[in-house]
Amino acid sequence: MSEERTHAPPLPTASGGGGAGAVLDRTPAAASPTANEGPGGAQQPTRGHSTVLVVGAGPAGCAAGLVLARAGVDVCVVDRATFPRDKTCGDALSNETVATLGRLGLADALASLPHAIVRRAAAVFPDSSEVTRDYDPPGWIVRRLHLDDLLRRELVRAGARLVQATAVTSLTARDGQVVGAAGPAFEWHADVVVAADGYGSVGLAALGATKPQGRFLAVSATAYYRGVGFPRGDTIADHCFDAELPYGYGWIFPAVEGVSNVGVYLRADGYRRTGRALRDLLAGFLERHADRFAHAEQVGTTRSWSLPLGPRPIAHAAPGLLLAGDAGGFVDPLSGEGIWQALRTGELAGETARDAMRGSGLDAAMRRSYERRCHDEIGKPSRAKALVQQAMAIVVRRRLYRLPAVRAALTWGYRRRAFEMSKS
Ligand SMILES: Cc1cc2nc3c(=O)[nH]c(=O)nc-3n(C[C@H](O)[C@H](O)[C@H](O)COP(=O)(O)OP(=O)(O)OC[C@H]3O[C@@H](n4cnc5c(N)ncnc54)[C@H](O)[C@@H]3O)c2cc1C
Repeated sequence: MSEERTHAPPLPTASGGGGAGAVLDRTPAAASPTANEGPGGAQQPTRGHSTVLVVGAGPAGCAAGLVLARAGVDVCVVDRATFPRDKTCGDALSNETVATLGRLGLADALASLPHAIVRRAAAVFPDSSEVTRDYDPPGWIVRRLHLDDLLRRELVRAGARLVQATAVTSLTARDGQVVGAAGPAFEWHADVVVAADGYGSVGLAALGATKPQGRFLAVSATAYYRGVGFPRGDTIADHCFDAELPYGYGWIFPAVEGVSNVGVYLRADGYRRTGRALRDLLAGFLERHADRFAHAEQVGTTRSWSLPLGPRPIAHAAPGLLLAGDAGGFVDPLSGEGIWQALRTGELAGETARDAMRGSGLDAAMRRSYERRCHDEIGKPSRAKALVQQAMAIVVRRRLYRLPAVRAALTWGYRRRAFEMSKS
């Protein structure tokens, strides 16, 4: 299997990278870390110290940074991208994600972004039969380009320092304790580091872990389409299961300003067995739903990225270090939902670091407490979701969805929201 297929190829614009030099957002309250340009414009390493350093300004990093900055903790967030940046995603926010963003004080700002409303989710089978559930309150579709920039702006407004266009390549350790992070143009010290840098985190090495594989990894490809048909109404999010997408599904989401997010999602071991490239699987999915795409045209490129699935049996904390969001592998294996998990583990990491700084530091008891909260809220339900994912693969492969008893069980599970980790 080629490299491209084992680890879905990164989206050039997804996570940014490198860039022309550090871009520093300062707030009036923030102490000056360092200059990022030297004499003659030569780039100098951005150097400094903060009580907490967060690596990654996605949903997990921003949630952690927001909690810390609002508590008055000196926090710096570093990201290799320059914002606004896009992130390869289906852009779907479950109603619990919307509620979590509201709890973070972002309800009004979120409502001002271009969005679509999801009032119903449908699991669609190859014979066109479906099982549905209604959302009340609704879920939303919001482009990550907009959502992540909103989080980033709020982070800076709350008083965090943000260093952009600056990659971290390793964590710095002393006497078995993480004490900072470094990159080609970055050298930073902190009492606690939150690794929130997504798939393939720099924090994994400090925990003796490697990138996830097999059933702890999924791959996904997505593209935007204008003019997709919505014959059953434009507030229905379709999750289409078929044997061509083992341990996964294809999605067609309601359009934001006329443009729909469409994609395929598969567990990595299932993907390997297909022997096909992700973009071919996406093209095949569109062909099987040709009626919906008769008048559609693609907007932009097809993009793909990897999803680290929960519950990955690795530590999520070490002396001086907490892992949050995709960095820790918290994505719901059945649905591929990861934004809520990123926000929630980011919040928990922020609270843990905040409390550690108010007490005796990030000691073993605080780290255990973080692990336990992540496990209770996300690890345990993920385990159940992984079992449902196994069962769904059998239902689809053997076409058991045609049996009334199976259909009844699916309807019961779906409507009781047994298939959703983030619920409201
Ligand atoms: C195709 C696809 C579709 C998806 N659809 C959905 C969906 O519809 N709904 C949903 O809830 N979830 C979805 N997910 C999952 C969701 O996108 C992730 O779970 C979520 O983005 C995780 O947030 P995060 O903050 O942990 O990481 P990320 O969003 O990946 O953010 C990590 C940040 O860290 C930065 N970074 C990375 N490496 C470094 C480094 N070395 N140095 C400095 N900065 C670095 C990146 O630039 C980025 O800004 C999807 C994922 C994929 C791939």
